[in-house]
Amino acid sequence: MTVKQALDLRDYIRDIPDFPKPGIVFKDITPLLADGSAFCTSVSELACHVPQDIDAIVGIESRGFLFGAGLAQQLCMGLVPVRKPGKLPADVHAIEYELEYGVDRLEIHRDALSEGHKVVIVDDLLATGGTVRATINLVQQLGAEVVACLFVVELLALGGRQRISEVPVHSLITYE
Ligand code: AMP
Repeated sequence: MTVKQALDLRDYIRDIPDFPKPGIVFKDITPLLADGSAFCTSVSELACHVPQDIDAIVGIESRGFLFGAGLAQQLCMGLVPVRKPGKLPADVHAIEYELEYGVDRLEIHRDALSEGHKVVIVDDLLATGGTVRATINLVQQLGAEVVACLFVVELLALGGRQRISEVPVHSLITYE
């Protein structure tokens, strides 16, 4: 009899030092995406943490779209994209947020969500939490409620979770 080993998603995340700039260790998820079992496992595990009775999955550009779309498809839910400026064609609501150097901006279609909608936000990675904090604010400004935030990878040392402490957070893989 063969005993099937549980798949460890950590084996499919690759460290790329000094990308996109010196001093950053980029967590590359492309080996995970390239492996059917690993990708499928990651989406199924994320799906286990989606509460009942939500109205949509919100995916953050761009790697959040990959997992968000898989999750939405698996749960037969709609997917709402949160995008970088100038990408969404219809009327948008925007938010600016601070980066280490300068500001960035995220946009959502104004008619994508409305008062009372419950959503789950998905991204590939939680680092300082600035991106997901801005996304939560964006969703809330449309009157919707964020009931959970899901990530494949979380970098614990950067404290992102503390910036979104009012929302339940789940990450599949954590690094100290
Ligand atoms: P933050 O706003 O600092 O939580 O950063 C999260 C966003 O930046 C996510 O959309 C990630 O895709 C990306 N990101 C930040 N740091 C890394 C990293 N070390 N490796 C890969 N992606 C990262």
